[in-house]
Amino acid sequence: MKCPFCKGSETQVVDSRVSEDGDSIRRRRRCLSCDKRFTTYETVELRMPQVVKGNDSREPFDPEKLRIGFTRALHKRPVSTEAVDQAIHRIAQKALSYGEREIPSRAIGEMVMRELYRLDKVAYIRFASVYRSFEDVADFQEAIAEVQKPPRRRKSRKTS
Ligand SMILES: [Zn+2]
Repeated sequence: MKCPFCKGSETQVVDSRVSEDGDSIRRRRRCLSCDKRFTTYETVELRMPQVVKGNDSREPFDPEKLRIGFTRALHKRPVSTEAVDQAIHRIAQKALSYGEREIPSRAIGEMVMRELYRLDKVAYIRFASVYRSFEDVADFQEAIAEVQKPPRRRKSRKTS
């Protein structure tokens, strides 16, 4: 952090405290060259990453686009709007916690797949067939085998 007065690069933090709402840290600094004091604030940057598409173009993260994808995959399936809302919320949170300025659309697609897998296996296969551009019956068979896998056995607590 350069001194705003003399542009000296050596500064010393003389005091630092968290703001009342806990959203920022305020630091008093002293310039070691000119001895002037100044204050800096440190805040969290929380921005939705830009989505990088396959053709390298960028677009803002758009939950409504996700909703269209979900609605299409879940057409006439017994899944509530609320469950879809929650899935979209989880994806948005994950994209946010990705912590990067940009996120590949592929990563978002995988998150949608994971959510659909949990919500509805038919919708999952529908989405996967388009998303992974299934080319033949074998691709479908593979996806169906995947959703038919028996759930992993929980570790038994019994010690018989
Ligand atoms: Zn200075």
